[in-house]
Amino acid sequence: MPSLPPAPARHALRGRAITFGANPFLDDPARALVHEPDALILIEDGHITRFGAFDALHDTLPPDTPVTTWHDGIISAGFVDTHVHYPQLPMIAAYGEQLLEWLERYTFPTEARFADADYAAGVARRFLRELLRAGTTSAAVYCTVHPQSVDAFFTESARLNTRMIAGKVLMDRNAPANLRDTPQGGYDASLALIERWHQHGRQLYAVTPRFAATSTEEQLDLAGSLLRQREGLFMQTHLSENLAEVEWISHLFPRRTSYLDVYAHAGLVGPRSVLGHGVHVDEDTFHTCHAAGCALAHCPTSNLFLGSGAFRLFDALDPRRPVRVGLGTDVGAGTSLSQLQTLNEAYKVAQSTGRRLHPAQAFWLATAGGAHALYLDDRIGTIAPGMEADLCVLDPHATPLMAQRAEQCETIEDLLFVLMMLGDDRSVRATYVAGQLVHDRDAPEAAGARGAGHITSFT
Ligand SMILES: [Zn+2]
Repeated sequence: MPSLPPAPARHALRGRAITFGANPFLDDPARALVHEPDALILIEDGHITRFGAFDALHDTLPPDTPVTTWHDGIISAGFVDTHVHYPQLPMIAAYGEQLLEWLERYTFPTEARFADADYAAGVARRFLRELLRAGTTSAAVYCTVHPQSVDAFFTESARLNTRMIAGKVLMDRNAPANLRDTPQGGYDASLALIERWHQHGRQLYAVTPRFAATSTEEQLDLAGSLLRQREGLFMQTHLSENLAEVEWISHLFPRRTSYLDVYAHAGLVGPRSVLGHGVHVDEDTFHTCHAAGCALAHCPTSNLFLGSGAFRLFDALDPRRPVRVGLGTDVGAGTSLSQLQTLNEAYKVAQSTGRRLHPAQAFWLATAGGAHALYLDDRIGTIAPGMEADLCVLDPHATPLMAQRAEQCETIEDLLFVLMMLGDDRSVRATYVAGQLVHDRDAPEAAGARGAGHITSFT
């Protein structure tokens, strides 16, 4: 990352801002969306301490507080990506296969390179830089089977002070020998990583069996006991992504009543469990997810890319038994790290199931909903006093096409819809992590430089 100047312990941002006061899948979306056309956000020691209309708050600011004004930008909570594989960044956009063949042909050879700690460190740096360029400030991240891939990721995340969840992949069968661990070896390595990284600063650990086909029952049981070793651990894996995979799991685990039951039987399904995809699931599975408090990660660009199927978002979120759902990019099967691009495809997938994803619902999924899915909504995902100051500044005029379209928007909902349909990393003007400016689109490499699109004044 370019070394941008450290922000003072107390500073403020001014500009148009959006956040959420309620869940727009349970309440009227237009009312759940909080839109402040001229907002002031006071940041102290990495946390938001005041948020409201500039006119109302301006006179209350402590003297000499520097104020950065974002003209024409929209300040939002940073995006939350609930499912992504950092080691797959080098193989994004690999041609021609569906899930199981894609894993064999592209994924496993790529992941084998992470035995080399220096290679892992280089990819981790590139990956986190790309996330911040996309406005994403938190993610649930798969590493590889190699413990050094986890050390590489958390080392870089700790340096950036990003709030990240990650873990070592557990895989003791149905994978090449150089990517397999053993039940006990995987347990021991994971426990050492948990001790090193879980709740180290903003870092959080996820026990990470890749999916039921690549772990024996013994390994899944040990993963369940790992989860009970420390408070606040996460669990991430894949569930019912592709029909051939679902069929394979039913043969591998004939005594289990469903794919989800394989994980539940091992003690892996509960709060802070994040299951990627859930494309081919029935009502019983949605009901179990609701009752258990686990989350599904909706990964539309990946599901379309691999031809996996259409996630039934509105069925999952049925107000009678809502399942926690976050948005995932699932790179490298996903085709973009941008949550704006991911929302573009989520909108189309919802359309294909006969439902309409309101822009307020979409942006909620990418921010507050993702934080809720991860049980982190008391820290990230909204702009409010007490929250960690992870923010992005969106630019609805990022391209000539967007600018001419944005000019015709009469409401904030229209403008957000333009951003999610036409936007990508070019539309992320800036990103803040714990109050620090970590990405400035218009001054990406100029250490110490202030971008031209905003001015700093002092109260
Ligand atoms: Zn995945």
